[in-house]
Amino acid sequence: MDLKVDLRGKVAVVTGGAGVLCAGMSLSLAGNGAKVAVLDLRADAAEGVAAEIRRKGGSALGLGVDVLAKPSLEAARSHILHEFGTVDILINGAGGNMPRATTGAERTFFDLTAEDIRMVMDLNFLGTVLPSQVFGKVMVEKQKGVIINISSMAAYTPLTRTIAYSAAKAAVSNLTAWLAVHFNQEYSKEIRVNAIAPGFLLTEQNRYLLTDINTGEPTPRGQQVLAATPMGRYGAVDDLLGAVLFLCSDAASFVNGAVIPIDGAFAAYSGV
Ligand code: NAD
Repeated sequence: MDLKVDLRGKVAVVTGGAGVLCAGMSLSLAGNGAKVAVLDLRADAAEGVAAEIRRKGGSALGLGVDVLAKPSLEAARSHILHEFGTVDILINGAGGNMPRATTGAERTFFDLTAEDIRMVMDLNFLGTVLPSQVFGKVMVEKQKGVIINISSMAAYTPLTRTIAYSAAKAAVSNLTAWLAVHFNQEYSKEIRVNAIAPGFLLTEQNRYLLTDINTGEPTPRGQQVLAATPMGRYGAVDDLLGAVLFLCSDAASFVNGAVIPIDGAFAAYSGV
């Protein structure tokens, strides 16, 4: 998709940047002129995305980073400041669900362990807070910046089975509003914190829930999702890029504390 905003001279940090959604966002930010630091637990995959950006003529760094370990984030910040000089944009993309924190025939609510629930809560919520502390500090110093969090449809009304993921994404939406107000009141009127809430995209984190691994046909849950999405399809990474670029750009100069659903009207539909 050929979307254009002018991000030349901007430096973007994308956590979870080797994942399906955030690799697409990293490429799109770079295609619009930003220098991109691709951060991911999977260092090789992060470097793979960065190498693809460089092959296309952009500037990028790929770094192995754990968003749940502050020293790891701080080391990445030093590296990025050394290479690119600043941070203008942070996309908090690392997140997701885990089968072990999902109820089903083989695992009832009563079987879920505290450890597995905590892992999903931490990855999505703390994994958004800690990078916002580490890279938000650079934004406070320069009195300007853009943070974009990734929420979910599960944040509006919890989705069945995904107990921890639904709660964690509700926390991410709540945090988005909190951070927007906090940065404005305490530090700068020029720091904006928003979120996108993607509808259902078919990716590795949910493929096992939405398609039959043997036949590739929609599971009953997949059929339910499509029936509950008035646009009648899953989203694609490209569907998210317009909103991400908009939020990064000065066109969104008064958009702050917002959670934007990009969901084919899933959240708007009561089912009746
Ligand atoms: P993905 O699994 O493809 O990508 C997530 C990336 O995060 C992976 O590359 C993984 O290695 C990385 N990661 C995991 N733990 C990490 C850690 N501790 N530190 C650093 N990196 C870590 O998932 P995706 O589908 O691209 O999802 C990206 C974001 O969008 C997530 O927050 C997800 O919850 C959210 N989301 C996805 C969908 C969807 O339909 N796919 C819908 C709504 C929201």
